[in-house]
Amino acid sequence: AAHPDGDDAIRQTDSDAALARFSAVQKGYIADPFVRALLPRGAHLQPPRPPLINVGTYVRAAGIDQLVHGFLAHAAQERRRCQIVSLGAGSDTRFWRIAAGPHASTLATYVEVDFAENTTKKAMAIRKSKDLGALLGNAEEVKLVNGGTSLHSPRYHLVAADLRQSPEESLGPVLTGLHTDDTPLLSPDLPTLLIFECVLAYMPAEDSDRLIQWFADYFSKSTNGVLGALVYEMFGLQDSFGKVMLNNLKARNVSIPGAEPYPDLASLPGRFTRRDFTTSLALTLRDIRRSCISEDELERISHLEMLDEIEELELVLQHYAITWGVKLNDPEAQASWKN
Ligand code: SAM
Repeated sequence: AAHPDGDDAIRQTDSDAALARFSAVQKGYIADPFVRALLPRGAHLQPPRPPLINVGTYVRAAGIDQLVHGFLAHAAQERRRCQIVSLGAGSDTRFWRIAAGPHASTLATYVEVDFAENTTKKAMAIRKSKDLGALLGNAEEVKLVNGGTSLHSPRYHLVAADLRQSPEESLGPVLTGLHTDDTPLLSPDLPTLLIFECVLAYMPAEDSDRLIQWFADYFSKSTNGVLGALVYEMFGLQDSFGKVMLNNLKARNVSIPGAEPYPDLASLPGRFTRRDFTTSLALTLRDIRRSCISEDELERISHLEMLDEIEELELVLQHYAITWGVKLNDPEAQASWKN
């Protein structure tokens, strides 16, 4: 079924995400030389976000970066190259940050998926930016296809799909179809990490379950396959604070149908363990701020802006979680991937 108005509001959430990231960059919380090239028009004129939001963006980015770097580092240690698939990638700059960083040579393939409207805009922004284009390869190797909704290059691929549709019919054929050298775009043999950053809440739980199951099935084809996945999302919105947050979203016509099945932190790993993953863990941003960020970093960001309400910050941060899981086809031989 089509959801025209709601979908437009869902696509717009990407502008919020990009602006929040830009704000945190401007205030010195995070470094991202690529964010500017992908901002919506006029974005640089917007006032920065309040300190509380900037700190939240910082903790979210730090937590996800640690997991992604850990995955890349582990693949490098095993002398394997790996793949990353970002679902609902929006204006994310992660591919470019990896391609410009120490693990660039470990990355074999990076695929981003979003609605066609968003991938078209991103493809155009990539075409316009020298910095973004330079990391994709030679200009003649970068191809716009499907009416400009998709872009392919040797390593980076931008693909349009509605993630609520059956993966067998929409996304699956694109990812498993033959690419260059008669190999599928996504190889079932390479360690692969799925990133769902702030996207699953916008789709019904049965659709996200089906999508995760599709990946689990595809990657069970290979004996040394490793599938990692991480989800960043809001959860536990039943309390009074959560209701305020939900109402804010409703006022902007954004519905989050997936929020209900995950009422608390303990329920979140079920996203993966119910879909054949070997292990899964979830941490709130509050826990991540307390236990995964170094003292030096906490000290550094505490000087960037005045933030006197630590209690309010923790109240917000405990409604966001990062859940990650790993599916090992040979859990004994591959035990080291669990960390
Ligand atoms: N992952 C990016 C980040 O964290 O910065 C963007 C997050 S933004 C809040 C959500 C993104 O998911 C939007 O770009 C939206 O278009 C995309 N999205 C939501 N539902 C989708 C669906 N059913 N199919 C494809 N993309 C979807």
